Amino acid sequence: MRNLTILGATGSVGRQALDLVARNPGRWQVEALTANSDAPGLAAAARAAGARFAAVADPAAWPALQAALAGSGIEAAAGPEAICEAARRPADIVVTAIVGAAGLAPTLAAVARGATLAIANKETLVCAGPVVTAAARASGSVLLPVDSEHNAVFQVFDHARPDRVSKIILTASGGPFRQMTRADMARVSVADACKHPVWSMGAKISVDSATLMNKGLELIEAHHLFPVGVDRLDVIVHPQSVVHSMVEYVDGSVLAQLGCPDMRIPLAYAMAWPERIATPVARLNLAEIGRLEFEAPDLDRIPCLRLAWDALRAGGSAPCILNAANEVAVAAFIAGQASFLDIDAIVSATLDRIAAGPVGCLDEVVAIDAAARAEATAQAAARA
Ligand code: NAD
Ligand code: MG
Repeated sequence: MRNLTILGATGSVGRQALDLVARNPGRWQVEALTANSDAPGLAAAARAAGARFAAVADPAAWPALQAALAGSGIEAAAGPEAICEAARRPADIVVTAIVGAAGLAPTLAAVARGATLAIANKETLVCAGPVVTAAARASGSVLLPVDSEHNAVFQVFDHARPDRVSKIILTASGGPFRQMTRADMARVSVADACKHPVWSMGAKISVDSATLMNKGLELIEAHHLFPVGVDRLDVIVHPQSVVHSMVEYVDGSVLAQLGCPDMRIPLAYAMAWPERIATPVARLNLAEIGRLEFEAPDLDRIPCLRLAWDALRAGGSAPCILNAANEVAVAAFIAGQASFLDIDAIVSATLDRIAAGPVGCLDEVVAIDAAARAEATAQAAARA
């Protein structure tokens, strides 16, 4: 039995991780579960999973969590430091399913004690990839990707001979607006943007999928997880989301991982690694699907992917600025304070106004993230 902690247990990824825990009694003992503010949801999940510790980031949710856990014997805590405490508790595996750069400090807390991480929280790698990977090398922490594309690459990557890899090709569904003109995109609603054709996900990543920023963040994530160099990363649109990504080798062979689009496949792979366990996911029926389509992404129609690519090439603090501005812009769109097309405009203007420089440590990342959020907030207000 291995001890397991889930950071962001009440979200889309967190709930799917808990589903796997419930289906595999005796495999994992749940150590800690965390949430932002959904105290009733967290308490119910902690009771059902037999967790030892539950924490909410929002201090205002503390009384509700205490009340909901009364008599359960489950320890409860609140505040951002309590999320780090959850990450520091002795779990063999920590699933990082918090959305956004809010996951950075708890991720580093888990890495520092050498835990194995099943990483869904891509924004943490985007804003602080070098800091996280250096800390993992120092502590011996293993970083296992849960993001379906990176999990696919991980499964077919020759880890012993990365120099034999000529290209990593990330697939992108293209999102709900794949065939829409930019003029029509000006009028889309939050509900339209969150109606993903293939995946059911949290609101922020659904919007990121619609802008293709999700694929941009994933390029940066891939750069930190697989040491092949920026020029060997590529993106192809594949609307069916059956081929989850590919690795091309120097001899021209291309290895891919395929499966039905269900996050429980990559989650199970990372949570049980190095074992492979059964999941309830539907089997892939290629005869029924019939056709798999591929097309080049249109970087002019939706510029977020290009912005991310440029930030990756610029390096240093540019990806952190990109990520922070995107978090602010997407939150403004979800709150009805910005239009869909304002998102790339806000990110682009923020990148133009804050000069990128080198980043060496966590404090620098935190300062750059804060400065970029302030600038992006001003940019969003100017457009409102
Ligand atoms: P979600 O919005 O459904 O859930 C987010 C979780 O994080 C919730 O438990 C929430 O309570 C918690 N949280 C939010 N803000 C917090 C804060 N400030 N402090 C502490 N906890 C906080 O999001 P999701 O769709 O599950 O995505 C989670 C992460 O996984 C994201 O980084 C996303 O990009 C990545 N991811 C998701 C999917 C998917 O299918 N949903 C696929 C690949 C990668
Ligand atoms: Mg993905």
